[in-house]
Amino acid sequence: MYDRSEQELRVLILAPIGRDAALLQETLCAKGHRAEICASIQDLVAQLADGASTVLATEEALGTEQTGVLVAWLTVQPPWSDLPFIIMTSKGRATSFTTSRALELQVLGNVTFLERPVRPETIEAAVRTGLRARMRQYEIRRGQETLMRANEDLEHFAYTASHDLQEPIRTIAIYSELVKRKYGDLLDDIGHEFLNYINGGAKRLEKLVQDLLAYTRATAIRDELPDPESSIAAIRAAEANLSEVIRENRAEVHYEALPCVRMREVHLQQLFQNLIGNAIKYRSDSPPRVSISASMAGRFWLFQVRDNGIGISPDYKDSIFEIFNRLHTNEEYGGTGIGLAICRRIVDRYHGKIWVESEIGRGSTFFFTVPA
Ligand code: ADP
Repeated sequence: MYDRSEQELRVLILAPIGRDAALLQETLCAKGHRAEICASIQDLVAQLADGASTVLATEEALGTEQTGVLVAWLTVQPPWSDLPFIIMTSKGRATSFTTSRALELQVLGNVTFLERPVRPETIEAAVRTGLRARMRQYEIRRGQETLMRANEDLEHFAYTASHDLQEPIRTIAIYSELVKRKYGDLLDDIGHEFLNYINGGAKRLEKLVQDLLAYTRATAIRDELPDPESSIAAIRAAEANLSEVIRENRAEVHYEALPCVRMREVHLQQLFQNLIGNAIKYRSDSPPRVSISASMAGRFWLFQVRDNGIGISPDYKDSIFEIFNRLHTNEEYGGTGIGLAICRRIVDRYHGKIWVESEIGRGSTFFFTVPA
């Protein structure tokens, strides 16, 4: 069970006139609330770091400087948080507070105005409403935390499982190969066929496990953006890994000047390797031609990887990016259905986007954006 600290349930009071603050505190404490007085806006913001359910302030406490401090605090609230503010204003007259500064707070925050004179019951009711709203926000936070933990557990499980599976799979592959070599003469055709199944199965498993490992590793980036990496170097490394496939298919990969991008080299290479590899694997009858280009799109580079392959029905343009989703059987095209999921995961980590435009029989163009 989540340990909701006492601090998170308290009301923080900000009123420049000592007697006002003491009266408000008394009113709330009499109704069983935990209310604490803050000496200044700096004190309030420091207290907010430890948690609070509601802030109760008078307009006199919120000069231009103080409002600025609050506005700055509001902009860095976590997504689940929308801390309720209750602000007591003066009756009737349009003060500079109600006309300008209050607006700033209202745009960013969850603000309720109470016009003075205000009865203690009204203040208490407003605080109670704020507290209820805050409790719902805490529930949302708890849900998010549980989800994040579950995700981490799952990722850890996938990583450990795929890591530990590598060795027994390799044993099967090696020993079926040895049986074939050493005892192949003793086996009839059916025996050889069975052995081939074992070997083929082990190879597919090996690839699946490697891809799963690559998928779980694609998360491991630091928060800050890495130094710029040359995308051409990443493409060259991908081409080197794909050299056999490129040669067998007489494929051509074209690109001219391409930018440096703020991604880790291994991620950039994985992206290109998956996209170029697919462009060749899902080829049409004509020799595969892949062309890569990039253009500036705001703070991002927009890359295009175009091929002249079999194309993809627009019905599947989203689902192909999900893990294990494939449009073909293993007999038609070998694969694990993880490649594009890895691409999406990498691009997501850099706050970019990836999508495809294609039609059956007309080639495909994969687009992705990455930080410039
Ligand atoms: P895999 O290639 O292992 O099946 P991917 O995640 O890389 O897995 O791709 C998912 C599916 O998207 C593929 O099974 C294929 O049907 C389709 N696809 C991916 N790239 C292309 C492409 N360039 N042209 C046509 N289809 C593609």
